[in-house]
Amino acid sequence: MEKPIVLIVGGVDEEFYEILKPYAELKEILSEKLTEEIKNADILVVRGDVKVTREIIDQAPRLRFIARAGSGLDNIDIVHAEQKGIKVINAPDAPVDSVAELTIGLIISLARKIPSLDRHVKSGGWRGTWTTGVELKGKVLGIIGLGRIGVRVAVMAKTFGMQIIAYDPYIPKTKAEQIGVELVDDLSKLLKMSDFVSIHVPLTDETRNMIKSEELSLMKRGAYLVNTSRGAVVDEKALYIALSSRWLGGAALDVFTEEPPSNSPLLKLDNVILTPHIGGSTLEAQRKIAITIAGEILSFIRENWTELYTE
Ligand code: NAD
Repeated sequence: MEKPIVLIVGGVDEEFYEILKPYAELKEILSEKLTEEIKNADILVVRGDVKVTREIIDQAPRLRFIARAGSGLDNIDIVHAEQKGIKVINAPDAPVDSVAELTIGLIISLARKIPSLDRHVKSGGWRGTWTTGVELKGKVLGIIGLGRIGVRVAVMAKTFGMQIIAYDPYIPKTKAEQIGVELVDDLSKLLKMSDFVSIHVPLTDETRNMIKSEELSLMKRGAYLVNTSRGAVVDEKALYIALSSRWLGGAALDVFTEEPPSNSPLLKLDNVILTPHIGGSTLEAQRKIAITIAGEILSFIRENWTELYTE
């Protein structure tokens, strides 16, 4: 029996190849080749930067399994895939610690202006009035979306003595209470109360453009916004106005509507910290992602290519 063909767009951690090499033909390609190569693939592995559209799926007569090497599934037309009997999986637990740690890093970087001060000292500068920061202790952190990453951020931020509130209409109050977080029942309340707001929702029709000028205007003057979830949750034009008018003290973004954000006016601002979608880019998270999806693919091969095991 022929081994299944696993098409890997962009590559994954080497553990993935070690686990699956005996059971599958592993083919690594660049995203430009996807349309051409998808025709022969049984299993597809993609990262978040590859769009698996209805058109791509329709060009793949053999495709039975799509693995997202990472967390969000917003780059895959899941409804269409599942209608065609294609199983879709991801590894949402794998990057949780890494994204939460980055979020905390960005919060501290904003509070203490670390990136600007680094540039300042390297260009010969030293302390001045603007170099004074703020402490996290006693400040209110508002978390939008108290899921896997939101909870982890809340637990870490509590250790700094921050007061944590959260807005998430889909979880029970008890979940928040268990970790000492106050759940608020509407987003505007959270925005008005918080010194720092951190976004951890999935990108859905409901959360797209969730934070626009109206929401930004409800935030405290001088407050900070952190987004490590998905770029399209925040209206970047509105954010640019809130930052350039100094309504907000600062913002830190790991994710953008368009990645990379080559034409974004945000690139010109000094009160925004930008990172290149590296929330899950740690050795540990990448390894956990590789092992998780390889395990799921292996089970799928075992169930569907049974003869490979009896030969
Ligand atoms: P999760 O599904 O565990 O949690 C999301 C939470 O958001 C859930 O509790 C859900 O109830 C809540 N939610 C959904 N809609 C909401 C709404 N309208 N208002 C308020 N809350 C709402 O997801 P997660 O694993 O914690 O991931 C959170 C985000 O982080 C996702 O967007 C994911 O794609 C992103 N992410 C980013 C990176 C990165 O590299 N920056 C890496 C991994 C995940």
